[in-house]
Amino acid sequence: MYADVLLRNATFPTVPDADALAIRCGVIQAVGSSADLEGTAGPTTRVLNLEGKAVLPGFIDAHAHFVRVGLERTFYVDLSGAESLDEALERLRLAARERQGAWVVAQGWDESRWPERRLLERSDLDRAVPRQPCCAVRVDGHLVVCNTLALARCSHPEGELVDRALGHLREEAAWTLLGAVLPDRSTLVEAIAAASRYACELGVTAVAEMSGKPEYLRTYLRALEEGMLKTRVFLYIPVELLEEAAKLGLKRGFGGELLRIAGVKAFMDGSIGARTAALTAPYRDGGTTGTLLLSAGELARLWRKASRAGLQMAVHAIGDRAIGEVLRAAELAGISRYDRHRIEHLELPTGEHLARMAELGLVASMQPNFVVNWSGPEKLYEERLGPERDARIDPHALVHRRGIPLAFGSDGMPMGPLYGLRGAVSPPHEIQRIPLEEALRAYTAGAAYSLFAEDELGEIAPGRRADLVVLSADPRTAPLEEIGVEMTILGGEVVYVR
Ligand SMILES: [Zn+2]
Repeated sequence: MYADVLLRNATFPTVPDADALAIRCGVIQAVGSSADLEGTAGPTTRVLNLEGKAVLPGFIDAHAHFVRVGLERTFYVDLSGAESLDEALERLRLAARERQGAWVVAQGWDESRWPERRLLERSDLDRAVPRQPCCAVRVDGHLVVCNTLALARCSHPEGELVDRALGHLREEAAWTLLGAVLPDRSTLVEAIAAASRYACELGVTAVAEMSGKPEYLRTYLRALEEGMLKTRVFLYIPVELLEEAAKLGLKRGFGGELLRIAGVKAFMDGSIGARTAALTAPYRDGGTTGTLLLSAGELARLWRKASRAGLQMAVHAIGDRAIGEVLRAAELAGISRYDRHRIEHLELPTGEHLARMAELGLVASMQPNFVVNWSGPEKLYEERLGPERDARIDPHALVHRRGIPLAFGSDGMPMGPLYGLRGAVSPPHEIQRIPLEEALRAYTAGAAYSLFAEDELGEIAPGRRADLVVLSADPRTAPLEEIGVEMTILGGEVVYVR
């Protein structure tokens, strides 16, 4: 049978001695030498000469906020590139002028990159945007600063999560407000289309959407119906909806080739940037030890319910105290290793934590780009945690050595595996370093495993879906920062060409 597409003259870093690959009906038909695959080229076969470029399995971002990435490119004011607090305010001022009378929702600010080195505050936003409601999400998504008009929309009581004087909302208080200022459905569909186009540019062929709000599921379905989804999406539903999901019988695997349910997402703590990650010893730069959002008992109860419903649990846990509590909950719930439940981020585990994780069969869902962004001398983690804890944060090497399944993702900060991989391949601390082959695996087959999709995705082998990324150079020989994405193929369809 003739191939639909034949890739020739390519390098396959994960398949020794192969230089050609045949695709038929969206699936890899064969991979091997040109001579072996000679017979697959027929009169209707599209032959692509790749001129020696490297082909990898399409990247799988195991922890993404895909709608948010899309909104960042279409709706939110982007503050991520701002080099100073003043520049961030200037961007808000301009956006407010363009959107007279409407909400100004911004995101991506990161004070650790600014000379001012302080958080945005209500008074800053009031000065920049005095006559419209305006809020701005910190890069980690765990802190939102509001101006006075936006703060009027916050119904959460003053307390740990709300500081009205500074205009700071954290965790649920922040998410509730953001949920209330979502754009209309067609803007959301456009955001998904934009996120998908962007993913194609980055060589990402599948993502786990970690915030599968009800409104988002409808929007994904719309985008799918309209043919705008060119990325496979695995959806995690907020744990608050577990009851309803279980009642409906929604379980892992429900859906189709491009959009399906993976599990539920719960939060045990917040982030290091917002000082809400739960630690055993206080933050270096502000007495607190962060916040536990659930007790081990509560999480165990949810966990048992999710397991019974056939839903995988993905629990956000960053600080060592939070990770310890998640493990306690897993033990209380008596989870099965065959359910492949996941810990998201897993930034400050101890050796003892990792031993228990291996025992429980938990998957480590980590984001090496956090290392690039915030670990090392004079960066955010050192500032918040001190050099001792910075030197043992994001220990990919220990996770790998323990044999814990490792899945890489980006958390959208920013999306982009070639950027993120640097945090595992050339990090500031040895404990973060794993071999390139293992790092690539975590962003492909490892991520697929965490989504129960390893028989379909994440590997270049006959029978797997033809999701591929063509790179300008072979990452085994060229530095990652010099490599670009040349082409992305999803199910045999070329969805991006540089
Ligand atoms: Zn996240």
